[in-house]
Amino acid sequence: MFPQIGRLTDAMRSVFVELLVHGPLSRAEVARRLSLSPSALTKVTRPFIEAGYLLEAAGEGPATVGRPSQPLRVDASRMSFAGIKLTADDLFAVRTDLGARVERETSRPLASHDIGHVLGQIVEVVEELTVPGRPLSAVGISLAGTATPSDPVVHTSPFLGWSRLPLGRLVEEAVSVPTVLDNDVRALTAVQQWFGEGVGHSSFALLTVGAGIGCGLVIDDRLVSGRSGLVGHLRIDDRGPMCERGHRGCARAYASSPSIRRSIASTLERPELTFDDCLTLAADGDPVARRVLDEAGAALGQVAATVANLTAPELIVLSGESVHMYDVCAPAFDAALAHHTHWTATPVRVAVKPFTFNEWARGAAVTALQHLLLNR
Ligand SMILES: [Zn+2]
Repeated sequence: MFPQIGRLTDAMRSVFVELLVHGPLSRAEVARRLSLSPSALTKVTRPFIEAGYLLEAAGEGPATVGRPSQPLRVDASRMSFAGIKLTADDLFAVRTDLGARVERETSRPLASHDIGHVLGQIVEVVEELTVPGRPLSAVGISLAGTATPSDPVVHTSPFLGWSRLPLGRLVEEAVSVPTVLDNDVRALTAVQQWFGEGVGHSSFALLTVGAGIGCGLVIDDRLVSGRSGLVGHLRIDDRGPMCERGHRGCARAYASSPSIRRSIASTLERPELTFDDCLTLAADGDPVARRVLDEAGAALGQVAATVANLTAPELIVLSGESVHMYDVCAPAFDAALAHHTHWTATPVRVAVKPFTFNEWARGAAVTALQHLLLNR
């Protein structure tokens, strides 16, 4: 895992992750946060400091009260990760450091979903992202579908038409770098947990809007794994539009970007309209676009309330490639969230996270990083 250090104890993992996510921190603060004695902390940090993974950052970090001590921080340049996001049409990839800072990015169109072709493209981008003398510590691959870091098999991926495909093993054999798979929304949640809006929150939910609607959960500091967060087809209203799975009035039928576009374009008989055109029309007060966006916002607000009622998050982060629709439908979203949140629950705060497409690939890199550090 860490060259020159060998096997990590649980205390070593905890200290390293604490400093990676919250550092720089004084030794006294790390000891306090993790309930370690000063001598135990010294024992835990010494191998990291000797191997150069932790630095004594004189003059950095918050001032300390009591025991004078040097702040510690992780040297993020000591490891690199590749994150790859597969969609039906493209492969997006980034190389990040230990702190999830993007160092390089690249992409490829996927001419077919044939595994030989996709594998060839993955091998190419991994080579492109590899810097001489700085080998990748791990590769993370994310996609819409059923995949988890503990399993090298993609169980289902409707967009790619795969089922029971041992993608993790195939990539690992081809590139000779440890490789983990994950669902794309869960990977995006991992970024928010360690390097984004979720830092400092022990429980939060990520709600993504775009081609579909997804949900990632962190509960009591644990990223929920497995086949969770399938909120896209939650029923909103029996009289609503139909989704592609035949549900009338599900969340996806109301609020996915293709549904919003289709609904407005067909009603106005303007097939050329893009999703962003539809947002502009709604913002300009076109009554059809306004109604569709209000209904979409209300559907998303109801989904957010349902998630909040079930999991009691401190925060809901809204993200995904269509998150800018919130600018147009915020009142409807906020009203539905307030209306459907259980009356005894504490109102949940919502943070809107502007989205860039390489964020998906960055999520895959953080999945690989978390898997390496936490062995999960
Ligand atoms: Zn549906």
